[in-house]
Amino acid sequence: MSQSTLILECTEADLRKAGELIRAGQLVVFPTETVYGLGANALDPQACRKIFQAKGRPVDNPLIVHLSSLEEIPAYTQKVTDIHRKLMERCMPGPITFVLPKVPEIPDIVTAGLSTVAIRIPSLEEARRLISYAGVPIAAPSANLSGEPSPTTFEMAYHAMAGRVAAIVKGRMCEVGLESSVIRIDKNRLELLRPGYVTFETLLELGKEFGLDVIDLSQVSQEKPLSPGTKYTHYKPKASVYLFSSLEDILNPLITIPSSTRILCTKQSGSKETFDKIVALNIETVVFENTQDYARHLFFQFHRADREGINTVLAFYPPPEGIGLALRNRLIKASGGRFV
Ligand code: AMP
Ligand code: MG
Repeated sequence: MSQSTLILECTEADLRKAGELIRAGQLVVFPTETVYGLGANALDPQACRKIFQAKGRPVDNPLIVHLSSLEEIPAYTQKVTDIHRKLMERCMPGPITFVLPKVPEIPDIVTAGLSTVAIRIPSLEEARRLISYAGVPIAAPSANLSGEPSPTTFEMAYHAMAGRVAAIVKGRMCEVGLESSVIRIDKNRLELLRPGYVTFETLLELGKEFGLDVIDLSQVSQEKPLSPGTKYTHYKPKASVYLFSSLEDILNPLITIPSSTRILCTKQSGSKETFDKIVALNIETVVFENTQDYARHLFFQFHRADREGINTVLAFYPPPEGIGLALRNRLIKASGGRFV
């Protein structure tokens, strides 16, 4: 499967061209604030099937449908309550995805046969302009081969998808760098199905304001996962990833550090003395200012490690506060849950 791939810029003319390609049933990679997406016309089952082929994605992993404005939501979803509307007005556009009953126009391939559909409005303006030029909703998972880290730069998206798609829209590095939070509302309960950029603390505050109980269902292991994609291996670089909760763990004399190892951590990962000892060990170390910055660059650092032939990545496992919860989720998948 190889086709010539057009590189487009974020100009009006190019976004219009990208929209036309989507409407014509082609695949187009485009930037969003979370990660680069691999888009197809969500109303065209043939086009959506190409997404699964290009990524090697299991067909029981449903896609998120991207819209350009709140006004489009009633055309593709059912049972939108007042509380949904209020929350959507507050959170959208943004890195949050709502799961709602679907209309028959959304094909089964998009939702993996589920009766619900996941809806998101990206906050990146270029993404919304592309969707409105397409004139159709865009189904888009991340633009990586299934199982690999999500692309957060044009170069990463190009590396993964050149030759597999009709066009790639070249944007800047993604501001967020992690996928959206997936939620649903069931009666008076707001349920988090997949942790993402919108934190659990933020959802708790929204719950308080709108009179909803907020629960995290993403940690609960279910025989039939509520967010089907969460059961798959994900985000894995070629390098082996091991986690650590504190830099001190790496100093344990019983641990052998392989050559060609890189540490990813934040300034909060250890004391000043520990950092000094790590420097003395001569292991290459990337230190992020804070967890937010770490989250934004995690996938890029995985890609970079692979390109530079790094064999082992030791990655700090942050506390579960704020964006730390989503970062822990991605790190557990990338490492297979292995700690140093
Ligand atoms: P990705 O596009 O790889 O970020 O994955 C999309 C995520 O949204 C996956 O974890 C899916 O399981 C989840 N998702 C998509 N549609 C639904 C749905 N109808 N119900 C629950 N989760 C969904
Ligand atoms: Mg993905």
